Amino acid sequence: MVSLKEVLGPLWSAAKHVFAKPYTYKYPYERVPSALQENYRYDPKAGIAYPGSKGRHLLRLEKCTGCSLCDIACQNIAEAITMVYAYDAVLEMPEHVYSELGKRGSPATRAVDLLIEGFNRYLTDEYRGGFSHPVTPVLATLKNVTKTDAGYVIRLNSDAVWANGLDLLVTNYLEDSFRVMISEGYQVRIAKDESPDRVTYELAKDGLTVFLRLEKRAMNIPVNKKSYFPMVDYGRCVFCGFCVDACPFYALEMTPDFELSSTSRVGMVYNPIALSGPKISTNPPSINPIDAVMGWLRRKTS
Ligand code: SF4
Ligand code: SF4
Repeated sequence: MVSLKEVLGPLWSAAKHVFAKPYTYKYPYERVPSALQENYRYDPKAGIAYPGSKGRHLLRLEKCTGCSLCDIACQNIAEAITMVYAYDAVLEMPEHVYSELGKRGSPATRAVDLLIEGFNRYLTDEYRGGFSHPVTPVLATLKNVTKTDAGYVIRLNSDAVWANGLDLLVTNYLEDSFRVMISEGYQVRIAKDESPDRVTYELAKDGLTVFLRLEKRAMNIPVNKKSYFPMVDYGRCVFCGFCVDACPFYALEMTPDFELSSTSRVGMVYNPIALSGPKISTNPPSINPIDAVMGWLRRKTS
């Protein structure tokens, strides 16, 4: 027969734990106080590593020479770094082709729509894969229009398009659009090859021709004339810090920012501008007042 003590004992034990100080934190509403709020840094001249958190990198663009040593250091670890150039995508067309834009069924409209679609396909969080190299989203629009003597010049992107080379830029963003154009009877050919800085494509159908120029954008960093910077894929990075140790120019650090979750692969890839800016990663949910009060009470009533 079960004694009263055997019944009440577990209940009493459970009741005591209601008011016991918890060992766990209700993340993300409660945070573990961290002693390491400093950036992890390395001084290559003194050969000293300064303790700090190894979260998202901070890239000091003005110090980065584009030497690729961080990339080389990462190659046998996680291959998370890709060295990239900044590019612009520029459309050129005579006036009679420009006047066709926006007309339904016009080959000029269709070609431009397909190009924009190619660049913009990574914008939504639903995009979860299908690319062979790390890519970052680009917002392409027809807003930057300039009239010249020869016709119209339209820069499709305001932020740079980042890629390791012109061929990878085409592979990542435009290959599918070109394939659709060819299947729809467009002539797609390289009109002028000035690799590695510039390439101009001619997209023609029914006597209407649109030129697409892909060209390097100068980032105007005096120590980095090539405008060649690291981009980090946090879907691969293991936060070892070897890239920081390998940088001889004090251009890389690691920050305490560890909240890097994303629902898409492209959301995990940080381009050089994102790496150089303040915290931009996933924001934790805003504090629920009830949870905040309960958390405070749980900790105080120990
Ligand atoms: S911290 Fe990340 S990016 Fe740097 S070497 Fe390690 S795995 Fe590569
Ligand atoms: S971050 Fe440092 S190691 Fe990497 S390319 Fe720039 S200067 Fe070189």
